[in-house]
Amino acid sequence: MRIVLVGAPGSGKGTQGDKLVAHYGIPKISTGDLLRAAVAAGTPLGKKAKAAMDAGQLVADDIVVGMVQERLAQPDTGNGFILDGFPRSLAQAETLDRMLAGLKQPLDKVVHLDVDNEEIVKRMLARGRADDNEATIRNRLEVYAAQTRPLLDYYGKQKKLATVKGVGGLEDIFRRIVTAL
Ligand code: ADP
Repeated sequence: MRIVLVGAPGSGKGTQGDKLVAHYGIPKISTGDLLRAAVAAGTPLGKKAKAAMDAGQLVADDIVVGMVQERLAQPDTGNGFILDGFPRSLAQAETLDRMLAGLKQPLDKVVHLDVDNEEIVKRMLARGRADDNEATIRNRLEVYAAQTRPLLDYYGKQKKLATVKGVGGLEDIFRRIVTAL
């Protein structure tokens, strides 16, 4: 099962992605986690990514695409994977489609976790991650609306999109996702 999770920052992709890992026994690939690890390790790639992350802007495609490509080449992705936070733009989605076509492993489903902005801001302020301050949150929501939301149309046209209400109990949301898959 090859799945993409799409949703605004704070929509629960990470949490539900972890539950999907346990349920399907396939790995989760989170570009946010990979980038934060690179920043923490102080790698050249992490140094390049940090400014964009701190500002709530997208990290350059070559960095993110390279990371995903490397991760997808690991043998544990053979039975499928869950992508969390990638793709985040039409250009990234087209690159991913080409990459997966080359591997003869097209996506099965794209799950959109639908949560309104007011709830998102509330959750992110409660979460308190380093990049969860009000100005950055506002930027990330704008970036999501402008760059990531168009993916819903893109995958809708491919008949791969399932929109799931991302509000309510964690288990209820999870059940909705598994039903949609
Ligand atoms: P959230 O979903 O809360 O925005 P993430 O952990 O997915 O958090 O991402 C954190 C930051 O990492 C983003 O604001 C962005 O700067 C960077 N990032 C993550 N994924 C990508 C991506 N696919 N393309 C570009 N930048 C990314």
